[in-house]
Amino acid sequence: DHVKPDGVVSTVCPYCGVGCGIKLELSGGKIVSVSGDTGNPSSRGRLCVKGRFGIKDFVHHADRLTTPLLKRDGQFVESAWDEALEYACSRLYQFKPGEVAVIASAKATNEENYLIQKFARAVLKTNNVDHSARLCHAPTVAGLAAAFGSGAMTNSIGDLNQSGCFFVLGANTSETHPVIGFGIKQAVKNGAKLIVANPVRIPLVRYADIFLQHHPGTDVMLLSAMCKIIIDEELLDRNFIDSRTEGYESLAKSLRKFDLDHAAAVTGVALEDIRMAARLYAGSKTASILYAMGITQHRHGTDNVSSVANLAMLTGNLGKPGGGVNPLRGQNNVQGACDMGALPDVFTGYQKVSDEVAKTKFEAAWGVSLPSEPGLTLLEIIDAIDRKKIKALYVVGENLMLSDPDINRLKRALEKLELLVVQDIFMNETAEMAHAVLPSTTFAEKEGTFTNTERRVQRLRKAVNPVGFSKPDWWITAQLGKRLCGKGFGFSGPEGIFEEITTLTPSYAGISYDRLDQGGLQWPCPSPSHPGTPILYVGSFTRGKGVFKAVKFVPPAELPDDTYPFILTTGRSLYHFHTGTMTRRVKGLNALQPTETLEISGVDASNLGISDGESVRVTSRRGSVTANAVVSKRPKPGTIFMTFHFPETATNILTNPARDPVAKIPELKVAAVKIEKV
Ligand code: SF4
Repeated sequence: DHVKPDGVVSTVCPYCGVGCGIKLELSGGKIVSVSGDTGNPSSRGRLCVKGRFGIKDFVHHADRLTTPLLKRDGQFVESAWDEALEYACSRLYQFKPGEVAVIASAKATNEENYLIQKFARAVLKTNNVDHSARLCHAPTVAGLAAAFGSGAMTNSIGDLNQSGCFFVLGANTSETHPVIGFGIKQAVKNGAKLIVANPVRIPLVRYADIFLQHHPGTDVMLLSAMCKIIIDEELLDRNFIDSRTEGYESLAKSLRKFDLDHAAAVTGVALEDIRMAARLYAGSKTASILYAMGITQHRHGTDNVSSVANLAMLTGNLGKPGGGVNPLRGQNNVQGACDMGALPDVFTGYQKVSDEVAKTKFEAAWGVSLPSEPGLTLLEIIDAIDRKKIKALYVVGENLMLSDPDINRLKRALEKLELLVVQDIFMNETAEMAHAVLPSTTFAEKEGTFTNTERRVQRLRKAVNPVGFSKPDWWITAQLGKRLCGKGFGFSGPEGIFEEITTLTPSYAGISYDRLDQGGLQWPCPSPSHPGTPILYVGSFTRGKGVFKAVKFVPPAELPDDTYPFILTTGRSLYHFHTGTMTRRVKGLNALQPTETLEISGVDASNLGISDGESVRVTSRRGSVTANAVVSKRPKPGTIFMTFHFPETATNILTNPARDPVAKIPELKVAAVKIEKV
C-alpha cells in the first residue's frame, strides 16, 4: 500500500552510469517509495527496475554496518570511531610511501573521491591510487585521449533521438543501461537503424537491422573489416578527414592488404553481414557508436577503442548531434572518480602527476610536497602485495574479492597484507579479510555530487539520517587526513570540498552547488557563465586534430583447446548490480534472479549431456565454480555466458588477469574453460 509521504527528496540513482534522477518519498525517516524525476535532463522521469524497486530494501537493511569494527584474535569486535581512526592512522603511519596503496570508489561521490586521492598523495605520499575504472573503462580513457585528446562520452543521452543509426557494440544496453536502451528502442521505432555487435544475443537484437555475433575478443578484426570496406567503397567523409584529422594515410596503408575473408573467418561473421553493417553505418547521415565493456575488457582493449575512434573519424561522425563515440560508464560515478583523479597517473581533470606545472599547482594548493612518479594500477597493486612490496591497503567502497579477476590468487595476495582497512556499507567478501572495517553511509544518507556517463555533474541530496554510527566516506577520509596530516582536511561538508575541486580543475571550474540546484551541468564547464558542453569536439578536438591509429589484431590470451574447449564471456543481468552487495539485499530483485546461471547453447548442452537447470562445474586454468546450466539461444556454440553478481558462484575465480599493455585492464571477457556435470 502506498504510504502518504512526509517529504520528497530529489537525488540520483545509486546504480548505473546513466545517473537517472529519482525522487525518494519519505515517511517516518525512511524511504517508502521511489519515482522518476521528470525534471532530470538525463532520464526525464524514466527508471529501470533497479532504480524503481531496488533502493529502500538495501538502504534500510538489517545487515548494514553500523559501527567500526577492529579484528582481534581473528574476530571482529565493535569499536568507537576514535579508537578505530586512531588504529588506522597509527598503523598507516608505520609504512613507507611505496608500501601503501589506496583503492577509491566509483560508487562514492566526487567530493569523496577527491579527498581519497588527496589523502593518498598529500598524506601517504603515494600515487598508488586507483579504482574500478581499471576494470571497465581504462582503455577508453587511454584510447580516446590518444585519438581525440580526452576520453569520455562525446554526446548526450538526450540527443540519441537525433541519431539516424546506432552501432551498439559490446554493450548490453537494455540490461546494463536500461534507460539508454529504452531511448534506442524508441528511436528505432521512430525510424533509426540499429546494428548490434555482440558475442551474445542480447535483448536489443530484437530491434536490430543487422546483428553481428562475433567471437569474443575479435573486435579489432571486425572493426578493421568495416573500416576497410568503408575506404574501398569510398563511403568515407573526405572533408572531415582532410580538415579535422591526421594519420589517415597510415590507417589506409595498414588496411591495403587486409584480407576480408580472413576477417570473416576469425570473427565468425559472414562477410556480407559485415559489409552491410559498414554500408549502413557509413551511409547514415548521423550515426552513433555506443560501447561498453565488451570493447574494453580485453588484453587489447585500448586497440579496440582506437578502432572505434577510427571508424567514427572515417565517417565524420563526431562533433554533431546524434553522432559520436559513446562509452557507457558502468557504475554511477565511475566518470566522476576518474575526473577526480582517483587514478595513479593524474590529478583531477586528467592533469598529469608527472607534469611539473600541475604538480606545483597542487603542491601550492595543498601546502605539501607531492610524488611525481605515476603510481601502480589496480592489478599492479595486487602484484606488489603478492610480492610483499605493498604491505598496507585502504579500500573504499569496492569489493575486490568478487570484482577482480583470478580471485584465488587475489585472496592469497590479500592474506599477505600487514594492514587492510575497508570502508563500506555492508560486510562483504573483501571487508571480511580486513583488520579494520569503517562503516560508511549509502547515497541516500549524504550530500555531494555524481558525474554520470554523459559527463553531467548532478547533486546528490541527503534524504534520511545515517544508520547507527555510520558516516559518509568524505567524513571518514577527512578524519584520517586530519589526524595524519593536520592540514588540508578541515572540511565541514561536501560543498567546501567541491569548491576546492573547482579551483584546481579547469573542466569543473564553472560549476557550483547553486548552479547544480537548477539542473546538472556537463563538463567542460570552464566558467560560471558557461552553459556546459552537451557535445564534445564541435569544430575541433581537445588535441586539435583527431588522429587515426593503425591497429593490428591480437587474439585473446586464451583460446579454446582440448583441455579447455569453451570460451567463457562475462557480463551483467538486468536485476543485479556489480558484486551484488546492494541488489542481493533487495527482496524483489533477488526473487527475479536468485542465483548465478551458466548460459550454454543447445548444441553444446546436448553434446555434453547437460539438461536445463542441471548443476555444472566450470573450470579454467585458475579454479572452478558451480552454477546451474540454462540452455539458451543467446551464446553461440563454443561460448558460455555468466555474470559476476553472486558470491556463492564467484565467476571471477575463472577469469583471466592477462592485461592490456597500455590501460592495464584484465581480459575479463575471454577465458578458456571446461564444463562438467557435477
Ligand atoms: Fe538507475 Fe541505471 Fe536504472 Fe537509471 S538505468 S534507474 S541509473 S540503474
